Amino acid sequence: MRLNDKLLGALGDSVRTPFYYYDMALLGKTLDEINRHTAGWPATVHYALKANGNPRLLAEILRHGMGADLVSGGEMEAALEAGFKPEMMAFAGVGKTDEEINLGLKHDVGCFNVESVPELEVINHLAGAMGTTARVALRVNPDIDAHTHRYITTGTADNKFGIALESLEQVIKLALSLPHIHLRGLHFHIGSQITQMQPYAMLCDTVNGLLDHYEKKGITFELINLGGGLGIDYGDPDGHPMPDFEAFFGIFKHGLKLRPGQQVHFELGRSIVGQCGSLITRVTYVKENRNKRFVIVDAGMTDLIRPALYEAHHKVENLTSTAAETQTYDVVGPVCESSDVFAHDCLLPLTARGDVIAVRSAGAYGESMASHYNMRRLPGCIFSNA
Ligand SMILES: *Cc1c(COP(=O)(O)O)cnc(C)c1O
Repeated sequence: MRLNDKLLGALGDSVRTPFYYYDMALLGKTLDEINRHTAGWPATVHYALKANGNPRLLAEILRHGMGADLVSGGEMEAALEAGFKPEMMAFAGVGKTDEEINLGLKHDVGCFNVESVPELEVINHLAGAMGTTARVALRVNPDIDAHTHRYITTGTADNKFGIALESLEQVIKLALSLPHIHLRGLHFHIGSQITQMQPYAMLCDTVNGLLDHYEKKGITFELINLGGGLGIDYGDPDGHPMPDFEAFFGIFKHGLKLRPGQQVHFELGRSIVGQCGSLITRVTYVKENRNKRFVIVDAGMTDLIRPALYEAHHKVENLTSTAAETQTYDVVGPVCESSDVFAHDCLLPLTARGDVIAVRSAGAYGESMASHYNMRRLPGCIFSNA
């Protein structure tokens, strides 16, 4: 069934827009597909809560056996509240505060993904003070070339994430020497919205090289965390409601030379929830300037900031117009910023005040990045029945 039919059934005139509409059946199918491709393999998927922390989505994700990837104490509280087991949590982030580390230690999270020597030392100190040991993976910056793969933004040498390859050995030795650190393994995350498989193949080569290198020195790892970053098709959400998980997991299944007993972790965010969400909004005005037509909707950058923040493209659809004639519009929000634009030169059927508009593929980094700017209300949410 198309989004139209499902959604408009749920949408009465009394429903306040804007809101996020989540297709729970698609979310369930996406999770099943992931489980199908990781079955029979020592792989665990931790869902990256920062993509969307909506409790209904978290419940569905937990029900499918996923763990949780967290980047703040607030996310840890949300994950605990949703029922995720600390054992199945990974705590990432370059700037964990003492309070956040203590929260993780108190619950004995499965893994702290550590990004620097000072952080490692603080975790060791705080764990000692609590009389416990922290389980840790070191986040490695694999310096995979951003120039040939423009989507990769977190895995190159000139950004803030991870430990540089050239200092890794020293940091591993330090981690092994600290009394309150249990070094479980290595962690990698090379970027987001990655739609080609080649960077992941390069990551496999890097990981294999590191495992060989350290094995010769008598150092082995129980855990390899390969991060997330798998992209979705923003241009054609109906044609590709799910990313190609078979290709994604296949690269690692075939490319990684895992040692006996070694586990792999993935941290997927966008690829799990991205396509199941749409931002639903009503047209407030249609306005014509000298050579542009604007559709002004009641959702703005406070509800979905990706277009304003990253010039991200989302497919925009008019769900209610029955006009055969089409027109080119800029679809814009009401917020007092020129960047508050959902789509430039968007071809829609003739659009009028009161029409219902869907901004597609908005399940990831939509609701979770919503703000109160202009003292606006946060968007609501409506769920299809799974
Ligand atoms: C954001 C993030 C993820 C999830 O990224 P997606 O692109 O949403 O899959 C995974 N791991 C880390 C460390 C992250 O920062």
